[in-house]
Amino acid sequence: MPETAAPPRRSSSAWPILFGGIIVTLAFFALLSFFSEEKEPVPEIAFGQLVEDAKAGRVESIVVRGEAITATYVSDGGDPVVKESRLAENVDIVAVLRGEGIALSRAAAPAGGAGVDLEFEENSSSGWSTALTIGLNVVPLLLFGVIIWFFFKQSNRAGSQAGAFGKSHARLVTGGKITVTFDDVAGVDEAKQELTEVVEFLKYPAKFAALGARIPKGILLLGPPGTGKTLLARAVAGEAGVAFFSISGSEFVEMYVGVGASRVRDLFEQAKSNAPCIVFLDEIDAVGRQRGTGLGGSHDEREQTLNQILTEMDGFEAGTNVVVIAATNRPDILDPALVRPGRFDRKVVLDAPDVRGREAILKVHVKGKPLDADVSVEKVARTTPGFTGADLANLVNEAAILAARRDKTVIGMTDFEEAVDRVLAGPERKSRLLSAEERRLTAYHEGGHVVVAHFTAKGERPHKVTIVSRGVAAGYTRFLPAEESHFRTPEMLQDQLCAAMGGHAAEELVFGTASTGPSNDLEQVGRIARAMVKRWGMSARIGPVTFGKTEELVFLGREISETRDYSEETARIIDEEVRALIVQAAARAKAILVEHRDLLDHLAATLLEVETLQGEDLARVLGPGADAEAAGAAPPMAAMRLDAS
Ligand code: ADP
Ligand code: MG
Ligand code: ZN
Repeated sequence: MPETAAPPRRSSSAWPILFGGIIVTLAFFALLSFFSEEKEPVPEIAFGQLVEDAKAGRVESIVVRGEAITATYVSDGGDPVVKESRLAENVDIVAVLRGEGIALSRAAAPAGGAGVDLEFEENSSSGWSTALTIGLNVVPLLLFGVIIWFFFKQSNRAGSQAGAFGKSHARLVTGGKITVTFDDVAGVDEAKQELTEVVEFLKYPAKFAALGARIPKGILLLGPPGTGKTLLARAVAGEAGVAFFSISGSEFVEMYVGVGASRVRDLFEQAKSNAPCIVFLDEIDAVGRQRGTGLGGSHDEREQTLNQILTEMDGFEAGTNVVVIAATNRPDILDPALVRPGRFDRKVVLDAPDVRGREAILKVHVKGKPLDADVSVEKVARTTPGFTGADLANLVNEAAILAARRDKTVIGMTDFEEAVDRVLAGPERKSRLLSAEERRLTAYHEGGHVVVAHFTAKGERPHKVTIVSRGVAAGYTRFLPAEESHFRTPEMLQDQLCAAMGGHAAEELVFGTASTGPSNDLEQVGRIARAMVKRWGMSARIGPVTFGKTEELVFLGREISETRDYSEETARIIDEEVRALIVQAAARAKAILVEHRDLLDHLAATLLEVETLQGEDLARVLGPGADAEAAGAAPPMAAMRLDAS
């Protein structure tokens, strides 16, 4: 995939410098305390005591420095003992010593009388230590100042190359440099068609202007992560050969209120002076979420930024050839003001690609890579339901890496197969040793899934089964749909529940009890059954009513919270219905396994021997099933995206 090199943006070197500064300062203080501690504390004595000692002849010398007195005591052999004392104000030490009859030099001491070598030192003769003291106080301050200075300098620079605080981070890529075109984006034909119009407009604005046609100012790209929104926006610019300004929502949201808004202003100013061009606001949900609803802080900042975007879009005069494209995967939370006519009134939906789309995307990504003759891109596409464009790009890359690791010169089909498993379930863990008993359990568990699925008419078709550990799973079974459908019928879902219970049922049947292994299966079963009853109206007792207003990450298929809008009585019925579905599925799974116990034993034995079975090999072991032709649902990833719509 040709990626256009964007000019380097914010230099992030402020932080190393800041942290460096802090560390230096801390080290400095540590050193400081180290040195000051090295001076052993000198015992202090009262001045009176010192005079007494001097009189008794125990003091050798006294040094007076201002008010501070340092006395060195007579020692016998060892280190001289130093003691300190303090001179009270207006006390003349000379007078005091004389008064006590102490001579002011030992040499001058009369026989039998006491004497000390008295010495006065200039107060300023401690210049050295004074300088040191001052230095110790000033240097940290200086350092601190320098750090602060750096910090501000850097944050200014981050604001803009020119140095003004709050200028936009928009990366300008001029038309000549964008090399991405529509050919690089596959499997989203409708979206491309919608955008062709925009490309035409940007290329030949005069043609449209002559007819008085107005092109939509704003286009909103909607779709799950990895479906190619960013890629498509770039491709529009590449096709039209115009400048492309892109900024991501997270870059708008700043610490300081008002900075985001000024970035927006600056961004649109730049864009207008570079028209015709595209302004791309990536992940606009970061600023465009409904005003007044956000969780957490930075409210004002977001609102101001959003308001500024709206103002700018309204402020385009007729004939401003700037097209604003925004992308998000959370259309549900966008502020209504953002999507009303005149703003982002065109919506282009990008969905996870179907099998033909996946094939096309794979073809884009294998272009220029050496493939073995046995590689069938179509087959790979069929085994990857639920994969997005980004997943597929990643898959091709994984396959290439695997081939390189195996010292091959071409990428083979086995590399693709292994890459799919890796992407779905993590790398193989051959080193994870299972005991013989655990292996048998795993073989029967996975075998149970496979056999049950094999004998359900509408369920998923088993495609691959293995008892080699992968990621956190001891073994795993991958299912495939034969036909891609956007809808699920109750029969399909019931069969899916049944197959998911197959592992549990096999363990019970063969070992008497089930292990902790199927807990994951049970969770999945619970989730599907609950959705069938509560959201899809598939329970006869409850009827076609949905319960529980759930706030959901629409494209991510995850529920964040549920508001309960039903009674205790209804809750009880829901629980009963969910339970009934699961119990039914479990019973059916067990019945299938009892009936086909021979096949289960045979499959488990084969797995213990060869560890992995897939595709035709698996079909051969299984023989004819409920439906010789494959039909079914999806592997774990797609199952998580189950959507009633
Ligand atoms: P999004 O912005 O929707 O999250 P991106 O545009 O960033 O997804 O896609 C990430 C990568 O996945 C792209 O750089 C590209 O390599 C690949 N990709 C995604 N969708 C497609 C597609 N439709 N055709 C080809 N490649 C795709
Ligand atoms: Mg993106
Ligand atoms: Zn299982």
